[in-house]
Amino acid sequence: MTNCCSNKNDSSTKNCPECGKASKSVEMKTVLHHLKFPDVLSIEESDYYFCSDETCSVAYFSVDNKLIDKKQVAVFDQHREAKLCYCFDIDKAVYIEALANNSAEKIKQFVTQNTKTSLCACAIKNPSGRCCLADFKKLESTNTNKN
Ligand SMILES: [Zn+2]
Repeated sequence: MTNCCSNKNDSSTKNCPECGKASKSVEMKTVLHHLKFPDVLSIEESDYYFCSDETCSVAYFSVDNKLIDKKQVAVFDQHREAKLCYCFDIDKAVYIEALANNSAEKIKQFVTQNTKTSLCACAIKNPSGRCCLADFKKLESTNTNKN
């Protein structure tokens, strides 16, 4: 597979200068597609990393510590609720609810299916630039082991 969801090992990790969370590198095109206008006009080409901590104010930071605030990123500014899948617009809360009433499998199958056939667009639509399937698993493990 050569799509965005194939497992790549070419990612590097750097700690967020704001919260210290280990953050994975993102492609320049991901940053370009998420940064709001007109901030996007003044973006400098660099190696960027994505801080996935929802409480951290930093969305992206460059290797030389230039910070891009979550407020400068359209998806974080427009959607207060946390998204699980950006390709198909699935909220985390919706999936947690689906897990609780046993309708989660259908959602996951849909996403998995479209991911396999490369119809997803994580590299562009997900601010992390990464496939959301790992986040599905993460959410499942934190929301099904509680009972
Ligand atoms: Zn951070």
